[in-house]
Amino acid sequence: MGRENLVPFNKPFISGNELDYISEAVLSYNHISGNGVFTQRCQEWLERTLGTNRALLTHSCTAALEMAAILCGIEPGDEVIMPSFTFVSTANAFVLRGAVPVFVDIRPDTLNIDENLLSLALSSKTKAVVPVHYAGVPCAMDAICNFAKNYGLRVVEDAAQALLSEDCGRAMGTIGDIGCLSFHETKNIISGEGGALLVNDPELVERAEIIWQKGTDRTKFEHGIVDKYTWVDVGSSFLPSELVAAFLYAQMTNAEKIIKRRKELCSLYATRLTPLMEAGRISFPRLPLGNGHIFFCLARSHAEQVELLGHLRGRGVSAVFHYVPLHSSVAGRRFGRVRRRAIWH
Ligand SMILES: *Cc1c(COP(=O)(O)O)cnc(C)c1O
Repeated sequence: MGRENLVPFNKPFISGNELDYISEAVLSYNHISGNGVFTQRCQEWLERTLGTNRALLTHSCTAALEMAAILCGIEPGDEVIMPSFTFVSTANAFVLRGAVPVFVDIRPDTLNIDENLLSLALSSKTKAVVPVHYAGVPCAMDAICNFAKNYGLRVVEDAAQALLSEDCGRAMGTIGDIGCLSFHETKNIISGEGGALLVNDPELVERAEIIWQKGTDRTKFEHGIVDKYTWVDVGSSFLPSELVAAFLYAQMTNAEKIIKRRKELCSLYATRLTPLMEAGRISFPRLPLGNGHIFFCLARSHAEQVELLGHLRGRGVSAVFHYVPLHSSVAGRRFGRVRRRAIWH
């Protein structure tokens, strides 16, 4: 079967209103840089739908993680606990501030950070924990937040894959001090490149707005609190343009529909792969957990993984293997360390 006939690994979903909203942004408001009408609509949607103190759109989740690292007050030599099985941006954001990522193993059932290993990774330099909700499946947030509280650590949720994923009525990304979302083309709700910072701790809101506004007090200026704006702290260019926000808003108004469809597709994969699971060849979570972001299964060995990918491809389904664990990557070895009492590999 030709490549073009394969069920693709990822197909960006276009809701239909994207171009109308972009024309509205261009023609109606005379403002296409960041923080205009559509940015505000998106931020309000996030605040209302997820329940957070302040949502700020960014040009990527990578950018949101970089803002989070600044907000946590990370300094050179500090340590940040995170899973090894994640995307590079989770670690990079903290390495850019001079921190050492401390990599912890994942649970075999959810592929999320193993909350029982956190204390092994702790040191006097630990400043934060960064749970990643892999495939949109919620991490054990109660255990993680209790641990963080006991040791005075910040919790930054890498919720790049977890928009609208919830546990006991709490949306992922709104439980820790800070949450980071992605709207990259490969995620559930998209704007090409895009992301958002969820500031859950009210004490961090004012500084988040300053960092977001390139280190200025422009937000206060816009609210008439100061009569000119100036450089007051570190910051950078984190805002997406209104063109991106307009596209994103069209997606947000269709979010429930998009996620419902993804969950259906996950159930379909689960049904079709059940015989292989019952034969003991692969394993996967029985229920479509979270927001249907990724359907994943585990093979017993690398050889069987390769065989499975080939088998699926032969039946017209494109599937891929995921992250090279960061502790075994070139940069991970250079910048990070694994939890104490563990050995490399
Ligand atoms: C996609 C992803 C990111 C990066 O998101 P961008 O918006 O592309 O910067 C970070 N962490 C995880 C876990 C991701 O899946």
